[in-house]
Amino acid sequence: MAKLYFRYGAMGSSKTANAIMVQYNYRERGQNALLLKPRLDSRDGEKVVGSRSGLCAPCEFIENLDRIDLNLYDCLIVDEAQFLTKAQVEQLVDVVDRRGIPVICYGLRADFQGNLFEGSHWLLAWADTIEEIKTVCWCGRKATCNARVAGGKVVKDGEQIVLGGNESYVALCRKHWKSGELAPEEIRRIAAGKREYLPLLLDADPSEAMIDRYLDAGDMYVLFAHGRAVAEAVVTRREDGCELKNIATEKDARGKGYATRLLMHLFRLLAAEYERIYVGTCEDLLPFYEKLGFEYAYTAPHFFRDNYPGVTFAEGALDDMTYLVRPLR
Ligand SMILES: [Zn+2]
Repeated sequence: MAKLYFRYGAMGSSKTANAIMVQYNYRERGQNALLLKPRLDSRDGEKVVGSRSGLCAPCEFIENLDRIDLNLYDCLIVDEAQFLTKAQVEQLVDVVDRRGIPVICYGLRADFQGNLFEGSHWLLAWADTIEEIKTVCWCGRKATCNARVAGGKVVKDGEQIVLGGNESYVALCRKHWKSGELAPEEIRRIAAGKREYLPLLLDADPSEAMIDRYLDAGDMYVLFAHGRAVAEAVVTRREDGCELKNIATEKDARGKGYATRLLMHLFRLLAAEYERIYVGTCEDLLPFYEKLGFEYAYTAPHFFRDNYPGVTFAEGALDDMTYLVRPLR
C-alpha cells in the first residue's frame, strides 16, 4: 500500500539533502522519483531544490502537478512541504489513494512564532506516517523550534513567510527559542550563500575580483557570537597543504580574540586533511601570525602591485607578499 509520509524537522536538519538522497536511491533501483516544491519558495531560483550542505537537484513546481504524467513516476518527493496549501495536500492524498504512488513530504513543523504552517497542519492531520528528522540546539538538546534571526537577535514579530529578506533561521531547543538565547560562540562551515559575507571578506581583501577567484572553491567558516557573524575565514587547497586566503573580524568586534579562536579551531579541523597551512600577508600582520605559530616560508615579489593595481591598502602601499607556514600536525 502506498503511503503519505511527513518527515518534519527544524531548520538545518538536512531535510532537503534527505529528499535528494531518497530520489537518488530510487534511481539506483531503476525507478523514477519526482522532486517537487511549492513555487512560493523562490530562494533557490527556478525549479531547483538546494540544501545548506551545498547539494542541489532539479525539481518541478507542485503547482504544475496536474500537467505532469504521473504514470512515469514511482514516488513523489516534496521539499519545503510546510508551504503547501490545504488543497495541495489533498491533491497529494489523492495521488497516494487513487493512483497508489507513495508521496514523501519534507518540511518544517512550526514557524518562527511556534505556529503550524498550513502545509504541516494538514500533513500532520492526514499523513500515514509521521517521522521526525532530528537536529541539535547549540546547547546539545534536541532542536524542535525555528528562530528567525535578524541583526544577531531572535525576532518574534513579523509575517510567517518573508521572501528575499535579510533574516536567517536557526534551530533551537524550546527553552532557548522561548528565551531568545543564541549560542554565545559558534563556528559554522558555510556551503551555500558565501557571498552574504562579502562585506566582511572585502575587509581583508579589497578586490572582489580576487575574492571571486577563491571563494567558490574555498571552504568558508564563520564564527557567530550570539547569532551575529563576527569573524570569517576562507581556506583553499594547494599542492603542498592548504592556504588561508581570507580572515577578517567585524570592526566593532575586534580585540576580543574571535579571529584567533576561529583559527585555532580551524587548525585542528584542517589537521585531519592537511599537513601544513600557508598564509600570504603583509608586514603589519606578521606579529599576529607569529603568535599563532606561523614562520617565514617565502616571498612572492610584487604580488600586491601585480594583483591589486590601483588599490590603496589600510597599511599603505604594498608590494611583495610574505608567505608564512604553520605545521598542522
Ligand atoms: Zn538549547
